[in-house]
Amino acid sequence: MNLKRSNPLALGGETYAKGDANILDQVKITDAKSRFGLINLNTDEHFVLEPLFYKIPFYKNLYDSTGLSPASILDVKRDQIDDTQRPGYLLSEKDSSHDADECLACLIKKRASVLPFENRSDLLMDYSDPETITALENAGKIDSTQKTALQTISNKICKKLLEPTATGVTLTTDAEEEQLVGKIMNLVAAEPYETVYIIAVGQSIRDIGSSDNKGITIFKNWAGSGKADKTYRKSDAIKRENDAHKAYRRAGYIRPFTLKEIEDGDSSPKVLNGAPNQLEDKITDVKKGQYDLGADKICAESKIVMTLCFDPWTKKWKIKRFEYVE
Ligand SMILES: [Zn+2]
Repeated sequence: MNLKRSNPLALGGETYAKGDANILDQVKITDAKSRFGLINLNTDEHFVLEPLFYKIPFYKNLYDSTGLSPASILDVKRDQIDDTQRPGYLLSEKDSSHDADECLACLIKKRASVLPFENRSDLLMDYSDPETITALENAGKIDSTQKTALQTISNKICKKLLEPTATGVTLTTDAEEEQLVGKIMNLVAAEPYETVYIIAVGQSIRDIGSSDNKGITIFKNWAGSGKADKTYRKSDAIKRENDAHKAYRRAGYIRPFTLKEIEDGDSSPKVLNGAPNQLEDKITDVKKGQYDLGADKICAESKIVMTLCFDPWTKKWKIKRFEYVE
């Protein structure tokens, strides 16, 4: 089996040279039934891709380094030999030069901008094969001007993945070359979209104030008692079920107890951060045509949860669905 190349024209299983890395799309390299939050190869963010290639352990002289017989990495249990004690142990590095033609994260971003990844095994797609390029062109996925760029970028990605260090390390066996790919494949996905969720709050507000530039002063009692009452001067005077407690609760500055607090017998008032020291408010310079916090009245409110997707083909955000939640 050749895990160093994927074959876009078949699912593998052809000649050795054409590659079988497509199997990496189907193999699950973990015990978990499902995975969430994989890194999308079509992401626009460099910092998202970068950690994939940083500090990933791999081994040169794979078969010799274990010191065990049969000498395969699969036979080595962590408690037998510490990784760092083993000869040939290395950690992959970030590209410190951040050279756009050498840095894997940059290369992957560039690749996705020419041709978005459809499968994670596309990382290993062999573009030196003219058949592959022709097939992509015939399918209308690339045009003739993009061929060379795609070939150059993709071949570089393959090389960088299969030879993670350039610092005088020669990886000789297939297993040595394929190990980094095997470790990162399980962490990535090729999703057509970037998806974000937005919670939008829409409010209708009654605009209060003077129509001219002078502005007026509004007095407000957040406790809603209607009295010019000075009782509730300090939030530290709030005690369970005293008047201040009732007033602050009515004004929405005290939250209900959690189940744990009730079970623990914690009865101290839960005054929210930002609660003012008094509930009487004097709001000055209130005008029409501007939002005056506390003076302008919120009459209605609705919350909408939206799913937005970025379509890498059209480079536009689309609202996939939205839902009124309150
Ligand atoms: Zn980079």
